Amino acid sequence: MLGASGVSQPPAVVTGPKLSETPERDSALKVLLAEDNEVNRKLAVRLLEKRGHHVDVAFNGREALIALRNSHYDLVLMDVQMPEMGGIEATAALRASELESGRHTPVVAMTALVMKGDRERCLAVGMDGYLSKPIHTQELDNVLEKFISIKRKIDPEQKAHPNAPIEVGTETIDENVLLFRLGGDREFLAELVTLFREDCPSMMIRIRTALRQHDAAEVIRVAHSLRGPLANFSASSAAALAAKVEYAAAAGDLNTANAAFSSFEPELLRAIDALSAICEERVP
Ligand code: MN
Repeated sequence: MLGASGVSQPPAVVTGPKLSETPERDSALKVLLAEDNEVNRKLAVRLLEKRGHHVDVAFNGREALIALRNSHYDLVLMDVQMPEMGGIEATAALRASELESGRHTPVVAMTALVMKGDRERCLAVGMDGYLSKPIHTQELDNVLEKFISIKRKIDPEQKAHPNAPIEVGTETIDENVLLFRLGGDREFLAELVTLFREDCPSMMIRIRTALRQHDAAEVIRVAHSLRGPLANFSASSAAALAAKVEYAAAAGDLNTANAAFSSFEPELLRAIDALSAICEERVP
């Protein structure tokens, strides 16, 4: 279900644009970003490239494994929930393959970590930390700094395991933070919002149909792909309602999912209106 937005399927692994300026060699990381959601992906790529890192992207765990087989990365940012192969499964497979090579590629999970046991599962399969969604710049910088210092200290061929998992929390984000995150770039925010807004009608149809057909798996998928961008857009109320739909469906309680969806719909429209207003504001 790569084409959730109806967009044609992208090639397996896309190499990010070349860095326009040469970054300080030892503070630039080669990062593999595995993320199925377009808005989340664009945002993460933008944040990483702004910091001078080189980013390759994979759209699911299977593609991430292919990229990891073909290239060495300083860090993998791994979404947990992805179609075809999720982040947990992909990390488990990577760690298994590393038993032979003796290499340890750092993997940091990107997840809302709201499901009980998520954190434990991430660490159990050998992930090195987690970054909460929506991505917060300070948390991202902490993670990047940690792996930059590891890269400086170690021979990349050496078997090295970073110490403790990275503890990161969640934070409420307002318009100022949202814009700060994008370097005040309203134009880029507008681009992301437009992408999201265009996807919404078809996603709402899919979720409505799935609820009617008691297709819990589809409800979970669609609610999840709505929740991620909403959280990244700081639309916390709409994101919370999408989460409610997602988790009710995950628990098999489609009545609750249905009720939550009724409140979600108007909230989504309000969120989109608010985001559009932010995009159109002129810098004073
Ligand atoms: Mn995902």
